[in-house]
This record gives sequence, structure tokens and C-alpha cells, in this order.
Amino acid sequence: MTIITSKTSETPKKSGSLFRLFKSYFRPHLGWFIGGTVFAVLTSAFATGYTLILGIMGDRLQGTFGEAEGASSPMWIVWVAASIIGLTVGRAVTLYLMTVFNNTGVQRSLVDIQDAQFVSLNRGDYSRLSGDASGRFVSRFINDVNSIRDAGLRFANNFTKSVVTVLGMLIVMLWTDWQLTLLLLVVYPIAFGPVIGIGNRIRKRSKTAQQQIGEVTALLSEGFQSSRIVKAYGLENYQEDRAKKGFVERSRLFLKVLTDRAAVDPILEVTGGVALAGILGFAAFRISNGAATLGDLLRIIGALAIASPELRALGTLNAVAQEGGAAADRVFEVIDAQPSIADKVDAKTLDTVRGDVSFSNVTFSYPDGTPALKGLSFDIATGETVAFVGPSGAGKSTIFNLVLRLYDIDQGVVSLDGTDIRELDAGSLRRASAIVSQDTSLFDDTVGANIALGRLGAPHEDIQHAAEAANAHSFISDLPDQYESEVGEMGRNLSGGQRQRVALARAILRDAPILLLDEATSALDAESEAKVQAALAEFAKDRTTLIIAHRLSTVRAADRIIVLDDGKAVESGTHDELMALDGAYKKLVEAQLN
Ligand code: ATP
Repeated sequence: MTIITSKTSETPKKSGSLFRLFKSYFRPHLGWFIGGTVFAVLTSAFATGYTLILGIMGDRLQGTFGEAEGASSPMWIVWVAASIIGLTVGRAVTLYLMTVFNNTGVQRSLVDIQDAQFVSLNRGDYSRLSGDASGRFVSRFINDVNSIRDAGLRFANNFTKSVVTVLGMLIVMLWTDWQLTLLLLVVYPIAFGPVIGIGNRIRKRSKTAQQQIGEVTALLSEGFQSSRIVKAYGLENYQEDRAKKGFVERSRLFLKVLTDRAAVDPILEVTGGVALAGILGFAAFRISNGAATLGDLLRIIGALAIASPELRALGTLNAVAQEGGAAADRVFEVIDAQPSIADKVDAKTLDTVRGDVSFSNVTFSYPDGTPALKGLSFDIATGETVAFVGPSGAGKSTIFNLVLRLYDIDQGVVSLDGTDIRELDAGSLRRASAIVSQDTSLFDDTVGANIALGRLGAPHEDIQHAAEAANAHSFISDLPDQYESEVGEMGRNLSGGQRQRVALARAILRDAPILLLDEATSALDAESEAKVQAALAEFAKDRTTLIIAHRLSTVRAADRIIVLDDGKAVESGTHDELMALDGAYKKLVEAQLN
């Protein structure tokens, strides 16, 4: 795995990501956002109320001091105070409701986004998932979605409130003194040019920063998963150095985004200050001329005080939206990826599968260009047990990948019951096989649930039967909660041999016509392996069984053994026939005996 240490040149491809995000994921929850908007408008209306009261207060005070109306009742002060309290309470309640409505809308939209991402990955090409570190995908789920959440919340909570409040204040100001207001309208827009420029830069930089979080997440999950090896090999320093590099790079990239973001507020602050100074000077001049009243001044200052933070929020909103846009670009990259292995429109569904598997002149290279099979041909009839042997990297596991159509081949044909598997519906093709591999893929659930994955919804007695056949029942019965015992992440609470027996039970429960065993008993002790082999032989009687095993004693009983080397079949026959051939197989056997 590499850590991004330089700037990436990637620029946002889809400027419409935010619009699409809104259209596809936020619009279905529009009801919540409309509710939020209604409360935002009410909040702004209460704010406008403040300025009106300030105006009344100013005019009253000017009247009181200017004309010495000593007899006037102090009751108006009580009314003013009561109105301010009323407005404050009204504003507080509507603010709260606005936030609750918008939060609910955003959270529900996020569930849809994460769901769409997961579905796309889960149903996409196997090569995509296996070709990249899982941490990078995890990062897309956590970090990109967090950025969209922040942007969504800021947008929903600020946009309407700020726009309506600023418009309200503008009307109050125009109505109070249009000349003063015009002065303001000249000053403010000047500030927004640089603010928008900064927003665009933030979008580019935050995309790079988010990509790099993926690297760090991958590095961390890899490190924690391999903690045993790290300790055993004394790799603590090595891991710490790699992690530190990732953290430093992360902080460097983030600092750039934060520095850009930090410039927005000061720019708006200065603009606000200039505007205020201009207004105070101009207003003082007009009041002394008698062209404006103290009430007018108070109303305008009040309106400015209320509008300023909202304007500032609108200014920073662009930056936040750009960060959200960068995250949306990345999320859509995941959602939009089209699987290359897709069912044809007229794909056939197999109702019953006999289990004839054949490879005809199959040539295949992995997506990274590594050649794996070079013109391989063989036919396996229903009920036959065929073992593949050969040196490491000869292409044995690749055959299983191709039987399951995890990849499409470059040349030749892989067929099931005489039909090219590319013509078949992938679901029905995969239902025809049960695989047990060295990587047992246990999930963080109970033992029973892990076996039941072979046939979801299987009754307990079937699960127990399968466990018995896989020689797993006795150890499961000794577990603290028997079939309800938790296996832990990746089956960590079980031993290697126990994990393998659970995986075998899962395959047996699946009851599929084709059995793919890739080093399926390699972690078992000799006694347990013998028992499992006997059970498997019984189970495999009417099924097509493909076996990969390095321990050649495991494959002796196979109906046929195909010896592979460098992606080609070099020998084929029973154990005795191949021994008599005195070729590659015999060499492998002798090498093992020695
Ligand atoms: P082993 O006995 O070590 O498991 P094998 O015979 O099963 O080996 P394969 O796993 O089929 O060998 O690999 C065949 C070739 O394809 C090797 O050169 C290997 O490096 C390559 N290969 C396997 N999986 C991938 C992959 N996901 N991406 C790229 N190349 C791969």
C-alpha cells in the first residue's frame, strides 16, 4: 500500500454532484426540509421583529429626551421588554424545530446514500473489491459521508434562514433609509469575489485530503488486523513510522483546507467593519441634519447586527458546499461504477444443475495483467472428483474464481452443463456451487449463524446435521453457548481447524451440486482430517467435486488428478496412472515424501 505524499492532480469532474445529491438523495425527504424551511422563515420573522422594536424604542427615546415629555407613561418600556422576551422565546423555539426537522431530513438522506454505496460495492465486480484495500472503502463510508452530512446540515440550517433574514433586514433597511442601504449594497458584494475563489480551492484540496484519509484508514485496519505478526516480528517501529507518515500527511493536507477556510471569516469581518463605519458616519450626518431619526439609526444598526452573522454564514457556506461537493464526487464514483460482469438481458436461469464443468482452451489474465491460465482445457462430469495440483502460482485457485465467474475470461469457454457460463444468470450459477477455501470468511456472529449462511433460514436440525458431517458438532457442543457462541471478528475466537470445520459445515448445508474445496482441510490435524475426508467422500458421491490441496495424501483418492504448471495442464490421470508416468506428479509426490 502506498501513502499519498504529493498533491494529486485530480480535479472535480462532476460539478453537478451537489445538484445530483439533492435530486436523488435529499429530495425524497423533502417534507422534512420544507418543515425546516417554514421554521427558518419564522425564525427570520422574529428577528425582523427585533429591529422594529428597536426603531420604536429609538423614536420614543428621542421624543422623551428631545421634547421633555416627562409625563409620558413608562408602560411602553414594559411593553418593549415583554415583546423582546416574546420574540426571543419564539425565535428559540422555531430555531430548535428548524434544526430538528433539517437534521432528520439529512440523516435519512445519508442512510440512502450509504445504502446506495454499499449496494454498488457489494454487487459490483469482485476484482474491484479485492483489488483495493478495504480501508479505502471504509473511508468512503465514514469520512465522505461525514463531509456530506456537515455540508447538508449547514446548508439546510443556514441557507434559508440566512437568505430570508438578510432579505428581511434589507427590506427593513430600505424602508428606513434607502440611501444608507444603497451604500451597504455597494460594499458587501466586493467581499464575495474572493470568498467564492477560496471555496473553489477548498473543493480541490479537500478532495485530496479525503482520498488520503482512505490511505490512513487502510493502513490502520491492516495494522490492527496483523497485530499478531507485528508483535511477533517486532515490527512496532516499522508500523509506527508508516502510521506517522500517514498522520503527518493527513494533517498537512487538512491544514491547507483549514487555512483556506480560516481566510473567509476575516474577509467578511473587515467588510462588515468598513460597512459599519460608513453607516455610522453617514447616519450621524443625516440625524444631525434632521433627515433621519434616532429610531432609524437604531433600526439600521439592529438590522445590520442581525444580518451580519447571516451574511458571514452565507459566505462560509460556499466553502462548506465545496467540501461536500468533493465528497459527493467520490461517493458518486463508487455508486456509478458499472460492473463489467453483469447478467445478459436474456440470461438463462438454471433450475436444476447436473454439475458438468468444462474449460475449453481458457486463457485468462487478472485485471492487473498477471497471466494466470494459458489455454487450459478439461471436462469434469457430474459426480466426478477431480483434484488440481501443481506448484504455487500454477493457476489452481484461479480455476475456482472462474467457475464462480468472479472474473470473465479472455479467450475460450467455461461451461456448466454445456452452457457457456456468460449466458447464465450469475445468481443461479453461484447457487450451484459451494466453496470452502483457506480463507474461511467467518463473520462476527454466532457459530450457528455462520453455518446458516450456506442456506439462509435453514432449520437448526439441518445446521446441526451439516456440523456433524463436518466433524464440527462435538467442538461446538463444548463451546459455552454451543451454536449460539459468538465466533468473533473473522472467527477470531476459534482455532484455525475449528474455523475450517465451520466453513465446511456451511458448504455442506448449502447442498449444492458442485463442491469447490480449496485447501479445505489444510488446518486440520491428521485425525480430524481423516474423519472430515470420510464425511466429505460420502457427501461428494453424487456431486461434482473440485479439490485443490498441497498435501498430496488428500488427493490420492480423487477420480482424476490434473497437474498444472504455469497456467497449463501438464498431466492428467489417477494417482496410480500419474505415478506410472514418472513425470511432474511423481516429482511432486517425491518432493513431499522427502
Ligand atoms: P497457490 O498454490 O500458491 O495457492 P495457485 O496455483 O492457486 O497458487 P493462483 O492463485 O491461481 O495460483 O495464481 C495464478 C497466478 O495469478 C499467479 O501468478 C498469481 O500471482 C496471479 N494472481 C492470483 N490472484 C491474483 C489477483 N487477484 N490479481 C492479480 N494476480 C493474481
